[in-house]
Amino acid sequence: MDTQKKDIKAHSLDELKHVLKTWHEPSYRTNQIYHWLYAHSVTDFNSMKNLSVSLRNQLSQHFFISQLKSISHQCSSEGPLSTQKFLFELHDGKTIESVLIPSQSEIPSKPRYTVCVSTQVGCPLSCSFCATGNMGFSRNLSIGEIVDQVAFIQNWLSENYDERVTNVVFMGMGEPLLNIDPCLEAIRIFSNPDYRFKISERRITLSTIGLIPGIRTLLSKNVNFKLAVSLHSANELLRNQLIPASKDYPLEKLKQVLKEFNAINRHPVTLEYVLLKGINDQAKDAQALKRFTKGLRCKINLIDFNTVEGTNYRKTSEPSKHQFIRFLIDQNLKVTARKSRGQSQNAACGQLATLNSRSHRIGPKLSLSI
Ligand code: SAH
Repeated sequence: MDTQKKDIKAHSLDELKHVLKTWHEPSYRTNQIYHWLYAHSVTDFNSMKNLSVSLRNQLSQHFFISQLKSISHQCSSEGPLSTQKFLFELHDGKTIESVLIPSQSEIPSKPRYTVCVSTQVGCPLSCSFCATGNMGFSRNLSIGEIVDQVAFIQNWLSENYDERVTNVVFMGMGEPLLNIDPCLEAIRIFSNPDYRFKISERRITLSTIGLIPGIRTLLSKNVNFKLAVSLHSANELLRNQLIPASKDYPLEKLKQVLKEFNAINRHPVTLEYVLLKGINDQAKDAQALKRFTKGLRCKINLIDFNTVEGTNYRKTSEPSKHQFIRFLIDQNLKVTARKSRGQSQNAACGQLATLNSRSHRIGPKLSLSI
């Protein structure tokens, strides 16, 4: 591949419009190109039949169309169509993972197929209980690299099960708000009815450790998708230990911005909480959590800790977990418990690691209402 050429799928629609403007091409040409890329998933410029031959040539002189290469695909032993982990190689040889989590929506006749996408190769945040943190950070994913995880899995799902991806969660490797523009453009592509995914924004969830500047950007854009915040503790000191990057974003300020988010977004914010034995699962922790939620439109999603080698954290016992849940429910809080899926093939939260570098997480999220 010519290294001077750029990946066209790393460009937003507006960026591409700008490039084509300098070539004196009308702006609708960019819409046509985007349509070929994201409605038809074409892999070469010659297939873009409604473009002139000279424009196709010009495009191929400046750009290439990246593709994910599937390296391996593991199915879980948990059932006939259960969690599937996909390992992909990017055009520069780096690898990422994505997880497909089939589940049943509240309406029993409607199966749900959720894809958990990665947004970075590695993660710079070093949360102490998460395998991805140990891996370090390699680079951000481009728009196309985020979108193509869903495109590949959608192809697989339709070929093998005649089904479609219904939901997307930005809960894989990486921190989406540190790669915010490509994530937002990917969400626009997923939800655009003119392209192939047609996944409405209410079926898309972006998860963050609570980076306030990023949440402010979402506020300024009046986003309609769902927001999840990895809280894990409502005690400032403990939260700082679990999520070192949270030191810059005190709980009080986080709560303030989430209240502002409540005002512009109709979905309650999900507070994710990994239960760690003897660390954040005591009565005082539940009380602190209750205090944090006061005045917030939110629901709490309790997550079982998935073992990560090299850490001393343990999963909370079932009786302690139920006590924790009981307290929150008695306080009239909305609580769901995420049933961990994919552990048998290390595809559960905090367990994902690429073959060439130990450590990255993906967050299969299967909510089980209690
Ligand atoms: N960086 C973002 C997106 C990743 S989401 C965020 O942290 O929100 C992945 C979810 O899985 C997060 O809630 C994360 O805290 C959680 N997680 C990480 N390691 C885990 C583990 N070992 N067991 C269970 N959940 C884990």
